Amino acid sequence: QDVVNRMAAGEVLARPCNAIKELVENSLDAGATEIMVNMQNGGLKLLQVSDNGKGIEREDFALVCERFATSKLQKFEDLMHMKTYGFRGEALASLSHVAKVNIVSKRADAKCAYQANFLDGKMTADTKPAAGKNGTCITATDLFYNLPTRRNKMTTHGEEAKMVNDTLLRFAIHRPDVSFALRQNQAGDFRTKGDGNFRDVVCNLLGRDVADTILPLSLNSTRLKFTFTGHISKPIASATAAIAQNRKTSRSFFSVFINGRSVRCDILKHPIDEVLGARQLHAQFCALHLQIDETRIDVNVHPTKNSVIFLEKEEIIEEIRAYFEKVIGEIFG
Ligand code: ADP
Ligand code: MG
Repeated sequence: QDVVNRMAAGEVLARPCNAIKELVENSLDAGATEIMVNMQNGGLKLLQVSDNGKGIEREDFALVCERFATSKLQKFEDLMHMKTYGFRGEALASLSHVAKVNIVSKRADAKCAYQANFLDGKMTADTKPAAGKNGTCITATDLFYNLPTRRNKMTTHGEEAKMVNDTLLRFAIHRPDVSFALRQNQAGDFRTKGDGNFRDVVCNLLGRDVADTILPLSLNSTRLKFTFTGHISKPIASATAAIAQNRKTSRSFFSVFINGRSVRCDILKHPIDEVLGARQLHAQFCALHLQIDETRIDVNVHPTKNSVIFLEKEEIIEEIRAYFEKVIGEIFG
């Protein structure tokens, strides 16, 4: 049984960046305003997320790494969301099947912090009092120590670290009201202030030149029950962008969040690419948010794919394309 659980967990958390996404989402769900990520060897040796969120009660420790144990399903309607994310109460359980997990957590109303270790979905010994500030710190060591085949599928530590960095940047851009920090004593380290200043985050990431040209996007469709918002940097000629890319003087950033969750969703990228492509333009920065009625989408149960099925895909895409065409038309005539 353990082997089956382990293999399943290795599919769900295929790389360090998948684990980071789950841990950061938990921190955000816990209301954290400061989230710090530490890693060693691309997250394979050590992966740690600490937050200043509401913490875990001592009595709940034993449950957090149990499969399908979640504190987030309280109402019947929540079951609908469960279908949408297809992954409730599985993240920490999965992590404990493929790594050695330690949790230190303190609730504001508790006298001290508590800590415990977890292995294969179980707490290995009772919780012990520990030093710690309000919030939670989850540490996973020796990721995939028990899954050599999975471990062999990893690229270099540097590549894995880059994917973790990229995952965290997406959150930082999406939530300028939260301070994110990445610490690994390397070039990719960063820290955002968390003061809600979106432009500052972009400036930090892509430089002032790009940040100064950011335009807001906003489209509300009452008919298709969605709201499309976001930011895009003023597009520049593709040729110029390509030269900049070659010189490595600039990076590109593109992200999509659907109902507050980061997804790799090319479907939403297509209408933007199409409009820009037709004018030989390129945008270095584009962050999109789609807020849509939960009953009209379905997120693939395989969490690492993060693919999304839309009921009225064609119509949604067409509305976004037409809107974007108008925005670009207003800028470039
Ligand atoms: P889910 O997020 O779907 O509930 P997880 O396996 O990701 O499932 O987490 C299990 C439970 O552990 C959560 O429901 C929550 O109660 C608790 N938890 C996990 N991470 C944190 C955190 N950073 N702060 C507070 N509670 C947490
Ligand atoms: Mg979770």
